[in-house]
Amino acid sequence: LYGKPTVVNNVETLTNVPPIITNGAAWYKSLGTEDTAGVKIFSLSGRVKKPGNYELPFGTTFRELIYEHGGGIIDDRPVRAIMAAGASSALIVATEEALDTPMDYGSVRTLNADLGSASVIVIDDTVSMEWVINKTLHFFSHESCGKCTPCREGTYWMRHIIERIHEGRGRQQDVELLHAVARQMQGKCLCALGEFSTQAVVSSIERFPQDFQSAVKS
Ligand code: SF4
Repeated sequence: LYGKPTVVNNVETLTNVPPIITNGAAWYKSLGTEDTAGVKIFSLSGRVKKPGNYELPFGTTFRELIYEHGGGIIDDRPVRAIMAAGASSALIVATEEALDTPMDYGSVRTLNADLGSASVIVIDDTVSMEWVINKTLHFFSHESCGKCTPCREGTYWMRHIIERIHEGRGRQQDVELLHAVARQMQGKCLCALGEFSTQAVVSSIERFPQDFQSAVKS
C-alpha cells in the first residue's frame, strides 16, 4: 500500500500475537476447544441486561455468555433467537440445545449458522423477526457498493419488499417473493457482503414464518 510493505489484519488477531510469543503456541492451544483454539472477543448486544465485549475462550456456551456474562434477558423475558455473527447471521432458534452449544466454529455450524465475527445479537419474545429483517436489509442495501448486479439489485428489492411488509402494506406473496429474491442471490455475489445479506432473510422466514404471516394481509 502506497509503495510500502503492508500487513492488513484484524486488530483482534494482532493482539493475540504477543501472549502467544511470550507463552508459546501450546499454551494458546490449551485455551478454547479442539475445533477452535484460543480466545475470542464476543460482542454481545440486543435484549440483554449487560451488553458489552467479553473476551472468553472459544467453547463458552451461548447460555454462559447471555446469562452469566450478559446478566440475562431484559425483564427476564424468554430468548427466542440468536444471531451469532451480527447482521450477517442466519437466525438460530434459541432452543435449550442451542443455548448449550459451545461457541466454536464447528459447533455453531451444527445449528445451520456461523459464528463469524462473534457479534452475538440476542432477540427475545418482544421482537418480531420482520422488524429485525427490516433493520438488517436497510444496513445491507446501504453498504452494497453496487459493483455486481445480484447484490446491488437484490438488496435494493429486498429492502423495498420488507418495508412494504413492515409498514403493513404487504401480502403473503411478498413474503414468498422476499424469500425467492434472497435464494436467487445466494452463490452469485462477488463478495461476502451480498451473500451475508441473504442469511437472516432466508433463515428467519423459514424458522419464524409466523412473524411474517402476522405482519401481512392474507
Ligand atoms: S456483493 Fe460485494 S462487490 Fe457485489 S455489490 Fe455487494 S458489496 Fe459490491
